[in-house]
Amino acid sequence: MREKKPLILFISDSMENIDSLGALLVKEYNFTVIKNASEILKTISEKLLPDIILLDTSMQESDSFDICRQLNEDDLTKDIPIIFIAEKSHNSDETKGFETGAVDFITMPVNPVVTKARIQTHIKLKQQRDLLATLAEIDGLTGIANRRRFDELLTKEYKQALREHEPIALLMVDIDDFKPFNDHYGHMAGDATLKQVAHIIDKTLNRPMDLVARYGGEEFVCLLPNTDIEGMTLIANSVLEAIRALRIPHEFARAADILTLSIGGASVIPKHGDTPESLVVMADKRLYKAKETGRNRFVFE
Ligand code: GH3
Ligand code: MG
Ligand code: MG
Repeated sequence: MREKKPLILFISDSMENIDSLGALLVKEYNFTVIKNASEILKTISEKLLPDIILLDTSMQESDSFDICRQLNEDDLTKDIPIIFIAEKSHNSDETKGFETGAVDFITMPVNPVVTKARIQTHIKLKQQRDLLATLAEIDGLTGIANRRRFDELLTKEYKQALREHEPIALLMVDIDDFKPFNDHYGHMAGDATLKQVAHIIDKTLNRPMDLVARYGGEEFVCLLPNTDIEGMTLIANSVLEAIRALRIPHEFARAADILTLSIGGASVIPKHGDTPESLVVMADKRLYKAKETGRNRFVFE
């Protein structure tokens, strides 16, 4: 697969600067221009996050230092490196640029080789930071999201559900009799099975906003934004069925002679004063009930 070109966003209203930087960068980068700086925060979305922002200091209508400050204060854009592009070198501007959070300051007319190298360096650093941040949120064994990622996303999605008066659902998933599975088939087989179960749950969730994470040991959690009881039940039953369909032999399980899951689920439309933790507690209690009432089932009340 061909690698995607990094996205450079140039904020400028000077055709001259747009043309000269465009000519320099358009081949190796996805070079995009925004002329109306006041629109910047509305233009950038999660789906279209630039790898770097070049900010023209000579704009007529807007104060580039102010824009830089805004970008650095916004959660979505605060990690994007910003380079100031200035008409002339002013020491005071340069100082102010770094003080407002820029990573570099380039003066026009640009030296093509130096400019490209500096942009490339900042993009590489950004990509390395992103990679580290992603790795810190992935479970080492299964490759799905870890508990930390889940906690982060739960808080975010719960707030969103509260704002939009939408339901949010959570499934607590636990492998049945996994201790005897390990004891009899060995820890290696146990690990391989955990990977397989994680992969199948991940495949069964089909909306882009759904998330499966490893909650701990042999427990997984599915976060299903904008999902009511009906939708949650559908997903929970598909997850149960998808694992049963693997027909992984488990002679030592109490509920069946194959590997099965128990799932506890909760779907709520959050009210002010409710906490995301209450959703976790509710699903966890129901998981316990699923275990108590025979395992290999879904409980949601
Ligand atoms: P229940 O049906 O009540 O959930 O029974 P259980 O045996 O699954 O429950 P318990 O919590 O007693 O045991 C969980 C077991 O999961 C303990 C351990 O053997 C296994 N386990 C937890 N983490 C891992 C792991 O990373 N790798 C492997 N192979 N096994 C693990
Ligand atoms: Mg278990
Ligand atoms: Mg458990």
